[in-house]
Amino acid sequence: RAKNQGRHNYNFYTRELDTQLHERMTVDQAMRRGLENHEFLLHFQPRVELASGRIHSLEALVRWQHPEWGLVSPGRFIPLAEETGFILALGPEILRQVCQQIRAWEAAGLEAPPVAVNLSGREFQQKGLVERTLETLKETGVEPGHIEFEITESAAMRSVERTIRILSRMHEQGFHISIDDFGTAYSSLNYLKRLPVQAIKIDQSFVMDLGDDPDAHPEDAAIVRAIIGLGETLGLEVIAEGVETAAQQRFLLAHGCRIGQGFLFSRPQPAEVIAQYLPSRTKAIATQASRGRS
Ligand code: C2E
Ligand code: MG
Ligand code: MG
Ligand code: MG
Repeated sequence: RAKNQGRHNYNFYTRELDTQLHERMTVDQAMRRGLENHEFLLHFQPRVELASGRIHSLEALVRWQHPEWGLVSPGRFIPLAEETGFILALGPEILRQVCQQIRAWEAAGLEAPPVAVNLSGREFQQKGLVERTLETLKETGVEPGHIEFEITESAAMRSVERTIRILSRMHEQGFHISIDDFGTAYSSLNYLKRLPVQAIKIDQSFVMDLGDDPDAHPEDAAIVRAIIGLGETLGLEVIAEGVETAAQQRFLLAHGCRIGQGFLFSRPQPAEVIAQYLPSRTKAIATQASRGRS
Protein backbone atom coordinates (compact mmCIF):
# COMPACT_ATOMS: atom_id res chain seq x y z
CA ARG A 1 0.00 0.00 0.00
CA ALA A 2 2.67 2.36 1.06
CA LYS A 3 4.46 1.62 -2.15
CA ASN A 4 1.36 2.28 -4.19
CA GLN A 5 0.69 5.48 -2.41
CA GLY A 6 4.27 6.48 -2.93
CA ARG A 7 3.98 5.78 -6.59
CA HIS A 8 0.72 7.63 -6.71
CA ASN A 9 2.31 10.66 -5.10
CA TYR A 10 5.21 10.38 -7.43
CA ASN A 11 2.85 10.35 -10.40
CA PHE A 12 0.92 13.26 -9.00
CA TYR A 13 4.00 15.41 -8.60
CA THR A 14 5.36 14.36 -11.96
CA ARG A 15 2.17 15.36 -13.65
CA GLU A 16 2.18 18.71 -11.90
CA LEU A 17 5.78 19.22 -12.85
CA ASP A 18 4.97 18.26 -16.43
CA THR A 19 2.21 20.84 -16.54
CA GLN A 20 4.49 23.49 -15.13
CA LEU A 21 7.27 22.66 -17.53
CA HIS A 22 4.80 22.57 -20.37
CA GLU A 23 3.42 25.96 -19.44
CA ARG A 24 6.86 27.45 -19.13
CA MET A 25 7.83 26.06 -22.51
CA THR A 26 4.58 27.31 -24.00
CA VAL A 27 5.12 30.79 -22.62
CA ASP A 28 8.75 30.81 -23.72
CA GLN A 29 7.76 29.78 -27.23
CA ALA A 30 4.98 32.37 -27.23
CA MET A 31 7.48 35.04 -26.18
CA ARG A 32 9.88 34.09 -28.95
CA ARG A 33 7.07 34.16 -31.50
CA GLY A 34 5.88 37.42 -29.95
CA LEU A 35 9.25 39.02 -30.53
CA GLU A 36 9.13 38.08 -34.22
CA ASN A 37 5.58 39.44 -34.47
CA HIS A 38 6.49 42.74 -32.76
CA GLU A 39 4.16 42.11 -29.82
CA PHE A 40 6.45 43.80 -27.28
CA LEU A 41 5.91 47.50 -26.81
CA LEU A 42 7.00 50.17 -24.39
CA HIS A 43 5.17 52.39 -22.00
CA PHE A 44 6.92 55.34 -20.40
CA GLN A 45 6.52 56.67 -16.90
CA PRO A 46 7.62 60.23 -16.13
CA ARG A 47 10.00 60.86 -13.26
CA VAL A 48 9.13 64.32 -12.11
CA GLU A 49 10.76 67.08 -10.11
CA LEU A 50 8.79 66.78 -6.89
CA ALA A 51 8.80 70.54 -6.33
CA SER A 52 7.52 71.65 -9.74
CA GLY A 53 5.97 68.55 -11.32
CA ARG A 54 8.17 69.09 -14.38
CA ILE A 55 9.37 65.98 -16.21
CA HIS A 56 12.95 65.15 -15.27
CA SER A 57 13.28 61.93 -17.27
CA LEU A 58 11.27 58.87 -18.31
CA GLU A 59 11.45 55.19 -17.45
CA ALA A 60 10.75 52.73 -20.26
CA LEU A 61 8.65 49.77 -19.09
CA VAL A 62 8.00 46.87 -21.44
CA ARG A 63 4.58 45.32 -22.07
CA TRP A 64 3.56 42.31 -24.10
CA GLN A 65 0.53 42.79 -26.33
CA HIS A 66 -0.48 39.16 -26.81
CA PRO A 67 -3.19 38.42 -29.43
CA GLU A 68 -5.25 36.34 -26.97
CA TRP A 69 -3.96 37.20 -23.50
CA GLY A 70 -4.14 40.95 -23.99
CA LEU A 71 -1.64 43.38 -22.49
CA VAL A 72 0.65 41.30 -20.24
CA SER A 73 2.61 43.14 -17.56
CA PRO A 74 6.37 42.54 -17.21
CA GLY A 75 6.02 41.06 -13.73
CA ARG A 76 4.37 38.09 -15.43
CA PHE A 77 7.00 37.36 -18.07
CA ILE A 78 10.32 39.06 -17.24
CA PRO A 79 11.22 36.56 -14.47
CA LEU A 80 10.62 33.64 -16.87
CA ALA A 81 12.46 35.49 -19.66
CA GLU A 82 15.42 35.79 -17.30
CA GLU A 83 15.28 32.11 -16.43
CA THR A 84 15.05 30.84 -20.00
CA GLY A 85 17.49 33.41 -21.38
CA PHE A 86 14.87 34.95 -23.68
CA ILE A 87 15.68 38.28 -22.03
CA LEU A 88 18.96 38.25 -23.97
CA ALA A 89 16.92 38.53 -27.18
CA LEU A 90 14.30 40.89 -25.77
CA GLY A 91 16.66 43.32 -24.00
CA PRO A 92 18.42 44.56 -27.15
CA GLU A 93 15.04 45.01 -28.85
CA ILE A 94 13.83 47.14 -25.93
CA LEU A 95 16.91 49.37 -26.16
CA ARG A 96 16.43 49.70 -29.93
CA GLN A 97 12.78 50.71 -29.45
CA VAL A 98 13.78 53.25 -26.80
CA CYS A 99 16.33 54.83 -29.17
CA GLN A 100 13.86 54.86 -32.07
CA GLN A 101 11.26 56.49 -29.84
CA ILE A 102 13.68 59.20 -28.78
CA ARG A 103 14.39 59.94 -32.45
CA ALA A 104 10.66 59.91 -33.27
CA TRP A 105 9.86 62.46 -30.55
CA GLU A 106 12.69 64.65 -31.79
CA ALA A 107 11.50 64.31 -35.38
CA ALA A 108 8.07 65.50 -34.20
CA GLY A 109 9.72 68.66 -32.88
CA LEU A 110 9.63 67.60 -29.23
CA GLU A 111 12.33 67.69 -26.63
CA ALA A 112 13.03 64.08 -25.65
CA PRO A 113 14.03 63.80 -22.00
CA PRO A 114 16.61 61.22 -20.86
CA VAL A 115 15.14 57.70 -20.85
CA ALA A 116 15.91 55.05 -18.24
CA VAL A 117 16.07 51.43 -19.41
CA ASN A 118 15.89 48.46 -17.05
CA LEU A 119 18.73 45.97 -17.40
CA SER A 120 18.12 42.53 -15.96
CA GLY A 121 20.82 40.66 -14.06
CA ARG A 122 21.13 38.16 -16.86
CA GLU A 123 21.75 40.85 -19.49
CA PHE A 124 24.19 42.53 -17.20
CA GLN A 125 26.25 39.36 -16.92
CA GLN A 126 26.39 38.78 -20.66
CA LYS A 127 29.67 39.43 -22.45
CA GLY A 128 29.79 42.25 -24.97
CA LEU A 129 26.92 44.22 -23.43
CA VAL A 130 28.66 47.58 -23.63
CA GLU A 131 29.78 47.08 -27.24
CA ARG A 132 26.34 45.97 -28.41
CA THR A 133 24.72 48.84 -26.61
CA LEU A 134 27.02 51.37 -28.24
CA GLU A 135 26.36 49.77 -31.62
CA THR A 136 22.59 50.22 -31.21
CA LEU A 137 23.04 53.85 -30.22
CA LYS A 138 25.28 54.51 -33.20
CA GLU A 139 22.82 52.90 -35.60
CA THR A 140 19.92 54.94 -34.26
CA GLY A 141 21.85 58.16 -33.74
CA VAL A 142 21.25 58.56 -30.01
CA GLU A 143 23.86 59.92 -27.60
CA PRO A 144 24.77 57.78 -24.55
CA GLY A 145 23.97 60.77 -22.35
CA HIS A 146 20.34 60.32 -23.37
CA ILE A 147 20.15 56.85 -21.85
CA GLU A 148 20.22 55.76 -18.24
CA PHE A 149 20.48 52.14 -17.21
CA GLU A 150 18.67 50.88 -14.13
CA ILE A 151 20.19 47.84 -12.51
CA THR A 152 18.63 46.38 -9.41
CA GLU A 153 20.57 46.46 -6.18
CA SER A 154 20.46 42.66 -5.95
CA ALA A 155 21.84 42.20 -9.49
CA ALA A 156 24.53 44.81 -8.89
CA MET A 157 25.71 43.10 -5.71
CA ARG A 158 25.85 39.58 -7.17
CA SER A 159 29.43 40.02 -8.31
CA VAL A 160 30.59 43.37 -7.15
CA GLU A 161 34.03 43.55 -8.76
CA ARG A 162 32.53 42.67 -12.13
CA THR A 163 29.72 45.17 -11.61
CA ILE A 164 32.23 47.91 -10.90
CA ARG A 165 34.19 47.03 -14.06
CA ILE A 166 31.15 47.07 -16.33
CA LEU A 167 29.50 50.13 -14.83
CA SER A 168 32.80 52.00 -15.05
CA ARG A 169 32.99 51.31 -18.76
CA MET A 170 29.39 52.40 -19.24
CA HIS A 171 30.04 55.51 -17.23
CA GLU A 172 33.12 56.32 -19.34
CA GLN A 173 30.95 56.10 -22.45
CA GLY A 174 28.59 58.71 -21.03
CA PHE A 175 25.68 56.55 -19.87
CA HIS A 176 23.91 57.39 -16.63
CA ILE A 177 23.37 54.56 -14.18
CA SER A 178 20.99 54.14 -11.29
CA ILE A 179 20.45 51.44 -8.70
CA ASP A 180 16.85 50.21 -8.84
CA ASP A 181 14.79 48.85 -5.93
CA PHE A 182 17.33 50.28 -3.52
CA GLY A 183 17.08 49.15 0.09
CA THR A 184 15.84 45.63 -0.68
CA ALA A 185 19.15 43.76 -0.97
CA TYR A 186 21.03 44.70 2.21
CA SER A 187 24.07 45.70 0.18
CA SER A 188 27.26 46.66 1.87
CA LEU A 189 27.61 50.43 1.97
CA ASN A 190 31.27 49.95 1.37
CA TYR A 191 30.46 48.54 -2.07
CA LEU A 192 27.85 51.13 -2.84
CA LYS A 193 30.50 53.77 -2.33
CA ARG A 194 32.62 52.15 -5.03
CA LEU A 195 29.93 51.88 -7.71
CA PRO A 196 30.13 54.54 -10.44
CA VAL A 197 26.41 55.34 -10.30
CA GLN A 198 24.61 58.69 -10.27
CA ALA A 199 21.32 57.77 -8.63
CA ILE A 200 19.57 55.38 -6.29
CA LYS A 201 15.87 54.65 -6.56
CA ILE A 202 14.13 54.13 -3.22
CA ASP A 203 12.18 50.90 -3.62
CA GLN A 204 8.48 51.55 -3.86
CA SER A 205 7.70 49.32 -0.86
CA PHE A 206 9.35 51.88 1.46
CA VAL A 207 7.45 54.78 -0.08
CA MET A 208 4.16 52.89 0.10
CA ASP A 209 4.75 52.00 3.75
CA LEU A 210 4.65 55.73 4.50
CA GLY A 211 0.94 55.48 3.81
CA ASP A 212 -1.13 58.63 3.75
CA ASP A 213 0.28 59.91 7.03
CA PRO A 214 4.07 59.44 7.32
CA ASP A 215 3.93 60.77 10.92
CA ALA A 216 1.88 57.70 11.81
CA HIS A 217 4.65 55.40 10.53
CA PRO A 218 7.79 56.64 12.30
CA GLU A 219 9.94 53.58 11.50
CA ASP A 220 9.08 53.63 7.80
CA ALA A 221 9.65 57.38 7.75
CA ALA A 222 13.05 56.86 9.40
CA ILE A 223 14.07 54.32 6.72
CA VAL A 224 13.15 56.66 3.88
CA ARG A 225 14.99 59.56 5.55
CA ALA A 226 18.02 57.31 6.02
CA ILE A 227 18.11 56.37 2.33
CA ILE A 228 17.78 60.01 1.28
CA GLY A 229 20.57 60.92 3.72
CA LEU A 230 22.75 58.15 2.35
CA GLY A 231 22.23 59.46 -1.18
CA GLU A 232 23.15 62.97 -0.10
CA THR A 233 26.27 61.75 1.69
CA LEU A 234 27.45 59.83 -1.38
CA GLY A 235 26.50 62.64 -3.77
CA LEU A 236 23.81 60.60 -5.51
CA GLU A 237 20.48 61.72 -6.91
CA VAL A 238 17.65 60.02 -5.00
CA ILE A 239 14.55 58.99 -6.94
CA ALA A 240 11.49 57.84 -5.04
CA GLU A 241 9.43 55.11 -6.69
CA GLY A 242 5.73 54.44 -6.14
CA VAL A 243 4.66 57.93 -5.04
CA GLU A 244 0.89 57.66 -4.82
CA THR A 245 -0.21 60.40 -2.40
CA ALA A 246 0.36 64.11 -1.91
CA ALA A 247 1.41 63.37 1.68
CA GLN A 248 4.22 61.14 0.42
CA GLN A 249 5.28 63.83 -2.05
CA ARG A 250 5.39 66.46 0.74
CA PHE A 251 7.32 64.15 3.05
CA LEU A 252 9.91 63.31 0.37
CA LEU A 253 10.37 66.97 -0.57
CA ALA A 254 10.67 68.04 3.05
CA HIS A 255 13.49 65.53 3.56
CA GLY A 256 15.50 66.45 0.50
CA CYS A 257 14.35 64.02 -2.18
CA ARG A 258 14.13 65.92 -5.48
CA ILE A 259 12.76 63.39 -7.96
CA GLY A 260 9.82 60.99 -7.80
CA GLN A 261 7.72 58.75 -9.97
CA GLY A 262 4.39 57.19 -9.25
CA PHE A 263 0.71 57.04 -9.99
CA LEU A 264 0.23 60.42 -8.26
CA PHE A 265 1.91 62.02 -11.27
CA SER A 266 1.36 59.51 -14.04
CA ARG A 267 1.00 55.82 -14.74
CA PRO A 268 3.27 54.38 -17.42
CA GLN A 269 1.75 55.57 -20.72
CA PRO A 270 2.13 54.91 -24.45
CA ALA A 271 4.53 57.19 -26.32
CA GLU A 272 1.72 59.18 -27.97
CA VAL A 273 0.29 60.14 -24.60
CA ILE A 274 3.71 61.07 -23.21
CA ALA A 275 4.27 63.26 -26.28
CA GLN A 276 1.53 65.62 -25.05
CA TYR A 277 3.62 66.43 -21.96
CA LEU A 278 6.92 67.02 -23.73
CA PRO A 279 7.98 70.60 -24.42
CA SER A 280 8.43 71.50 -28.06
CA ARG A 281 11.97 72.07 -29.25
CA THR A 282 11.05 75.10 -31.35
CA LYS A 283 9.45 76.74 -28.33
CA ALA A 284 12.56 76.04 -26.28
CA ILE A 285 14.72 77.53 -29.02
CA ALA A 286 12.38 80.52 -29.38
CA THR A 287 12.51 81.16 -25.63
CA GLN A 288 16.28 81.02 -25.68
CA ALA A 289 16.39 83.38 -28.64
CA SER A 290 14.07 85.91 -27.00
CA ARG A 291 16.12 85.70 -23.81
CA GLY A 292 19.24 86.32 -25.86
CA ARG A 293 17.65 89.42 -27.42
CA SER A 294 16.44 91.03 -24.19
P1 C2E B 1 10.75 48.54 -11.73
O1 C2E B 1 11.84 48.80 -12.71
O2 C2E B 1 11.08 48.73 -10.30
O3 C2E B 1 9.55 49.47 -12.21
C1 C2E B 1 8.62 50.07 -11.35
C2 C2E B 1 7.29 49.37 -11.40
O4 C2E B 1 6.41 50.03 -10.48
C3 C2E B 1 6.57 49.45 -12.74
O5 C2E B 1 5.80 48.25 -12.89
C4 C2E B 1 5.65 50.64 -12.56
O6 C2E B 1 4.53 50.63 -13.41
C5 C2E B 1 5.25 50.46 -11.13
N1 C2E B 1 4.82 51.71 -10.50
C6 C2E B 1 5.24 52.97 -10.77
N2 C2E B 1 4.62 53.87 -9.98
C7 C2E B 1 3.80 53.18 -9.17
C8 C2E B 1 2.89 53.56 -8.12
O7 C2E B 1 2.72 54.73 -7.78
N3 C2E B 1 2.22 52.54 -7.51
C9 C2E B 1 2.37 51.23 -7.86
N4 C2E B 1 1.65 50.32 -7.22
N5 C2E B 1 3.22 50.84 -8.85
C10 C2E B 1 3.92 51.81 -9.49
P2 C2E B 1 5.83 47.39 -14.22
O8 C2E B 1 5.82 48.29 -15.42
O9 C2E B 1 4.76 46.37 -14.09
O10 C2E B 1 7.26 46.70 -14.16
C11 C2E B 1 7.56 45.77 -13.16
C12 C2E B 1 9.01 45.37 -13.20
O11 C2E B 1 9.31 44.64 -14.40
C13 C2E B 1 9.99 46.54 -13.20
O12 C2E B 1 10.18 47.04 -11.90
C14 C2E B 1 11.22 45.87 -13.76
O13 C2E B 1 11.89 45.15 -12.76
C15 C2E B 1 10.64 44.89 -14.77
N6 C2E B 1 10.68 45.52 -16.10
C16 C2E B 1 9.81 46.36 -16.70
N7 C2E B 1 10.22 46.72 -17.91
C17 C2E B 1 11.42 46.09 -18.11
C18 C2E B 1 12.37 46.06 -19.20
O14 C2E B 1 12.21 46.74 -20.23
N8 C2E B 1 13.47 45.28 -19.02
C19 C2E B 1 13.68 44.56 -17.89
N9 C2E B 1 14.80 43.82 -17.80
N10 C2E B 1 12.82 44.58 -16.85
C20 C2E B 1 11.70 45.33 -16.96
MG1 MG C 1 13.15 50.28 -12.94
MG1 MG D 1 12.07 49.68 -8.91
MG1 MG E 1 10.88 46.47 -9.08
